[in-house]
Amino acid sequence: MTRRVRMAVPNKGRLKDPTAALLRQAGLVFEQTDRALSVPVRNVDLELLFVRTEDVCEMVADGVAELGITGLDLLTEANVDLDVVSELGYGRCRLTAAVPNDSPIGELSEFAGQRVATAHPHTTGTFFAEKGVDITTIPLRGSVEVAPKLGVADAIVDLVSSGSTMKVNGLRPVATILESQAVLVSVRGVNGEVGATVAQMATMLQAVVAARRKRYVLMNAPTNALDEIEAIIPGFDAPSVVPLAHDPGKVAIHSVVDADDVWTVLPKLKAAGASGILVLPIEQLIA
Ligand code: AMP
Repeated sequence: MTRRVRMAVPNKGRLKDPTAALLRQAGLVFEQTDRALSVPVRNVDLELLFVRTEDVCEMVADGVAELGITGLDLLTEANVDLDVVSELGYGRCRLTAAVPNDSPIGELSEFAGQRVATAHPHTTGTFFAEKGVDITTIPLRGSVEVAPKLGVADAIVDLVSSGSTMKVNGLRPVATILESQAVLVSVRGVNGEVGATVAQMATMLQAVVAARRKRYVLMNAPTNALDEIEAIIPGFDAPSVVPLAHDPGKVAIHSVVDADDVWTVLPKLKAAGASGILVLPIEQLIA
């Protein structure tokens, strides 16, 4: 390959900032301006293509880029055969089938014969066809949630994260069609130099995603409390236990703890006799 490997990433919208933050945390050094479509990464043999989130999959499928970051929902909707190299842990949402609050519809089979407005017509059509439920899809680019009010549709299929937009629009969720989050995609079956770059990117991005779910915890503790403390932090691996130079009755303990568990674990550590407890973020983690 004569040109650099390219990664297509969102140039606007919800996934733009978290994607740039992920790439920077993974150690890629690049400048992002509002105008440039293509930006070289300074420290890795990679070029970033800033494109619309919904165009990322096409760019990769057409061979314009070898890698891309987009939403899983958009990959499903694009209906192209790409590898999902890695789930990235942000941009989480659900593609949800919903009806107006006063609709008699209570389950998916009752969507039969209904008009369903959606910005995901392919995914919606395939989902209902597989269930043997015959619907009419009304493809819309945006403002899907107002379609029933306008009389354009009887139901919708749309992305939801908190659910508040649906609530405000008087809609009631009936079923989840797809769980989505941002994903790293690549062309299938790459090897050689391109394959090596794809593997390198996957490792670097997964290291950041894994690190975000963990915290590094350090503390001092009485040596005789060690068993109790080890039971409180079953952790990632056995903790490191280091003797303190001037206090034979105490040790320093270092461990990795799930970020979600920190606030239940800390009071227990304190009660077990730990002191000087420090909780630190981790930049990257390779298990
Ligand atoms: P954009 O339209 O460029 O802001 O990006 C939309 C993408 O962001 C979607 O395709 C999803 O992958 C993701 N996303 C995450 N949460 C939501 C949400 N609540 N509504 C719409 N898109 C979401």
